Amino acid sequence: MTMALKKSHLGVAGDTVPPCLCNEATPSPLNAAERSLMRFAAAQKIGELFEVLGIDYLNDHNTRDTPARVAKMYVEEIMRGRFNAPPVVTEFDNVGQSDQLIVTGPIDVRSTCAHHLMPIYGSAYIGVLPAADGKIIGLSKYDRIVDHFSARLQIQEELVKQIGAFIMERTKPRGLAVRISAVHMCKSQRGVRASHASRMVTTEFYGDMLTDKTTRGEFLQECALLDRNA
Ligand SMILES: [Zn+2]
Repeated sequence: MTMALKKSHLGVAGDTVPPCLCNEATPSPLNAAERSLMRFAAAQKIGELFEVLGIDYLNDHNTRDTPARVAKMYVEEIMRGRFNAPPVVTEFDNVGQSDQLIVTGPIDVRSTCAHHLMPIYGSAYIGVLPAADGKIIGLSKYDRIVDHFSARLQIQEELVKQIGAFIMERTKPRGLAVRISAVHMCKSQRGVRASHASRMVTTEFYGDMLTDKTTRGEFLQECALLDRNA
């Protein structure tokens, strides 16, 4: 009887959210009712995981509410970027016809490793070479874009590419650079137990910044300066 109940419940959740890759968005954003259903189903599964691990969470004052708490954290925070629409990017005409390098950062990165479900945290830097006859976007939008793609299970190499592809597609700049420098707790808290200062740096260049060595150098120099002053 219990199994049948669980199965029917999962059937509803499964119909609502078809599975896709861990750092891909669901085919359409989820509303509050769909997320609530997902939280309920996830909490049941996390409770089962505790049972497997020999934790009597129903009678333990420390973990009694943990399955529901962790389910909420996964759906509403850690994987939120998969279930919400991407940020709206308001464009302005490039009235001043600015075509020089703009660098913004550090932008906080808070993500989760797809391999170990451990935190990834650090900084992103974005360099934009606007097209003189193109569009520009508000600076805060870059922070929102980084946050959107970080809020899911990620590996850093793909996170950088997702941010870059989105900015290229939406704003069509002449050139773009996206750089992330981050600590992976799957490497510091477990495994080789690397220093907490140990970082991974990934950079992707697009458009003119792929070929223009001077602008690339300028971007990397600005990143170093911004990092030092952070
Ligand atoms: Zn990992």
